[in-house]
Amino acid sequence: MHIVAVLAKVGLVYIGAIFLIFALFPIRELIAQLPKGKLKTNWITLATLIVIFIVGYLFYATDYWLDHDHNDGFDLVVPFIFFFGGIFVFLVGKLSLKTASDMRKMAILEHQSITDSLMGINNRRYFDQALDDEVKIAKRYGLPLALILVDVDRFKDVNDTHGHLIGDEVLRNLAKAIKNIARESDVVCRYGGEEIAIITPNTSLEKAMILAKRLNETVKKSTMALSCASQEEIYITISLGVSSLNFGEVSSRENLLQRADNALYDAKRNGRDRVVTLQDSEKGS
Ligand code: GH3
Ligand code: MG
Ligand code: MG
Repeated sequence: MHIVAVLAKVGLVYIGAIFLIFALFPIRELIAQLPKGKLKTNWITLATLIVIFIVGYLFYATDYWLDHDHNDGFDLVVPFIFFFGGIFVFLVGKLSLKTASDMRKMAILEHQSITDSLMGINNRRYFDQALDDEVKIAKRYGLPLALILVDVDRFKDVNDTHGHLIGDEVLRNLAKAIKNIARESDVVCRYGGEEIAIITPNTSLEKAMILAKRLNETVKKSTMALSCASQEEIYITISLGVSSLNFGEVSSRENLLQRADNALYDAKRNGRDRVVTLQDSEKGS
C-alpha cells in the first residue's frame, strides 16, 4: 500500500512536469511570432516561470521518491494540484497559440475583404460603408466633408497601345501616387474600373479643390510605367470631379456622389485633364 501511494504521488508530479515541458513548445512558437514589445516580454517571463516550475516539480518528485521516511499516508492533494497545474498550463499554451494564429487569419481576411487586389487601396465595398459613416459624422457634428472622383483620361488608349498588363501597372502607380499625396485621414478607394474616389473628412470644398488640383498636376508629371516595346516612359492625365456635403435641404450621400459624378462628367466634356466642381459645372451649363 505504501509503495502504491509513493508511486501515485511521484507519478502524478512527473506527469505534471511533462505537461509543463510540452506547454513550452506552443509558447516558444508564440513568442517567436510576437513582435518585440511588452506582450513578448510577458510571455518570455511566463516561459521562464514554467521552466522554474518544471525544475521545482522534478525536485519535489525526486526528493519524495528518494525519501523513504514519508508517513503522510495516501494524501494525493498536492500531487493532484501539480498534475492539473501542468495540464492547465499546457492547455493555456496551446489555446494561446491557436487564438493568435486565428486572429491573424481573421485580420488578413478582413484586410482582403476591403482591399482592391490590383490597386492595393480600399475597394468599392469599403467606400460605400465609409461614405455612409463619414456623411453621418459630418451631419452630426456639423463638419465639412468633400468627395473627389478621379477618372483616367483615355485609358482605353493606354491599354490598346501598351497592353493590359502595362495598363494594370499604370493603375497601381496611380493609386500609389494618390495615396502619397492624400492625408492619412482621407479615404482612397477604387470606385470602378479606372476610377478612384477620395473621401476627405473635415475638409471644405476649397481645400478639396486644392488637393484635387495638386493630384492633377502631380499625376501628369509622374512616370506611370515604361512601355515594354520601346522602354518609353508612359504618362497619363486625370479628370477630377469635386463635391462637398451641403447642409441644405439635400445633403444625402447620393447627392454628394451625384454632384461629384456630374462634375467629373463636365470635366470630361470640357476637354479632360482638369478639376471641376458642381459650382463650376453649374456656371458652365
Ligand atoms: P475617358 O477619358 O472618357 O475616361 O476615356 P477612357 O478611355 O478612359 O474611357 P473609360 O473611362 O470609359 O474607360 C475605362 C477603360 O479602363 C476601359 C477598360 O478597358 C479599362 N479598365 C478598367 N479596369 C481596368 C483594369 O483593371 N485594368 C486595365 N488594364 N484596364 C482597365
Ligand atoms: Mg477614363
Ligand atoms: Mg472610367
